[in-house]
Amino acid sequence: MTAPSAWAGLDPAHLWHPYARAAGEAAPCAVAGSAGARLILDDGRRLIDGMASWWCAIHGHRPPEIVSAVRAQLDTLPHVMFGGLTHEPAARLAQRLSELTEGRLPRVFFCDSGSVAVEVALKMAAQYQQARGAAQRGRFLALRGGYHGDTFAAMSVSDPDNSLHARFRPLLPQQRHTPRPPAAGCGAQTLQEACDRFDADLRHEDIAGVVVEPVLQGAGGFHHYAPEYLAHAAKRCAERGALLIADEIATGFGRTGTMLACAHAGVVPDILCLGKALTGGVLSLAATLCTEDVAQTISAAGPLLHGPTYMANPAACRAALASLELLERRDWQREVRRIEAVLCTELAPLAELPGVRRVRALGAFAVVEMRAPVSVPGWQRFSIERGVWLRPFGPHVYTMPPYVVTDEELRRVTAVIREGAENPPEE
Ligand code: PMP
Repeated sequence: MTAPSAWAGLDPAHLWHPYARAAGEAAPCAVAGSAGARLILDDGRRLIDGMASWWCAIHGHRPPEIVSAVRAQLDTLPHVMFGGLTHEPAARLAQRLSELTEGRLPRVFFCDSGSVAVEVALKMAAQYQQARGAAQRGRFLALRGGYHGDTFAAMSVSDPDNSLHARFRPLLPQQRHTPRPPAAGCGAQTLQEACDRFDADLRHEDIAGVVVEPVLQGAGGFHHYAPEYLAHAAKRCAERGALLIADEIATGFGRTGTMLACAHAGVVPDILCLGKALTGGVLSLAATLCTEDVAQTISAAGPLLHGPTYMANPAACRAALASLELLERRDWQREVRRIEAVLCTELAPLAELPGVRRVRALGAFAVVEMRAPVSVPGWQRFSIERGVWLRPFGPHVYTMPPYVVTDEELRRVTAVIREGAENPPEE
């Protein structure tokens, strides 16, 4: 797309974009600003953001309440090392996050990205098992179809055949994987068989914890699975001394219709990972929460062995506090229900199209799974020409708009998806 002439050559000369070759890719689209549900391109065009910056911008872009909270923090304490020092934004945010779990996960470890939050969760579980004399529990059980980030341990608990991670397999810690849970709404027998299989896979004596994306798997295949399966898994983990680790980095903060997706199954995990929408899409911050039992057991044996340089960055913590305040003040449940209703009405009929395998919607998220991988540059060009920002992945054309998107804007997003599903854009 267009790039401003003053720096147009710098991007292709120097930058590497996510999941991309260094050269030879379609030129990325230059963004100059953002406001609400819109991205403002360098050439002045405005796009409705169907991606919320990869799940993050739940209040829309540049929410004034968050921007001014960050500004005020930058004027007093932009950053300070967290070893041996502490500050109000981190302490207040830890308390607020703990309240989201009704105090069941009172201990919070901050870091700077979702992948690292997962690494910390795995370390917590491993150190917990070592500390209670179960050092043989050194592996994790993960769900096929899962996605937990791009660092090595996070890759090892993601789907082992996922195209993003499969080539690193020889380098990854070896974990155990259990089949992808059955879809939400599956019959009783299918659910029973899946639970039986889970039980069999959990029987191994070496499992420190079970890693799940609760109810909605994200980038590993956008699969909405039966909450009863998660409830069953939680119960069995507790019985067998394995920790339940819930990765809510994508699902957290209302995206699936509940503040945490675990609530669909009435479950509170032992360890919880949060990220992405934590700061309302303004700054990078992630958190790993755990029970007091996990924290005290580890601590009786020694320190938790992790400590990122930018841990608990004060400006990012302020952004998160402001984002949580905004959520509290707004009727986000109603907004998410409204978005879900439009997504269902507009996209469900696409399941009849010959090129479409499935359509799924949950909360403020929907995916149209095509029968074949789509052309990402083709889709990008096509949707930008129609005033919408979408970035499909494999066969998945998906949207998770900011909660502030209007019905009219959302219908423009779904109209573009419909048109592209009917006549798939080509390279
Ligand atoms: N877990 C899940 C469920 C995710 O969706 C992602 C990001 N796509 C991650 C972990 C990794 O987060 P980050 O990109 O911030 O490292």
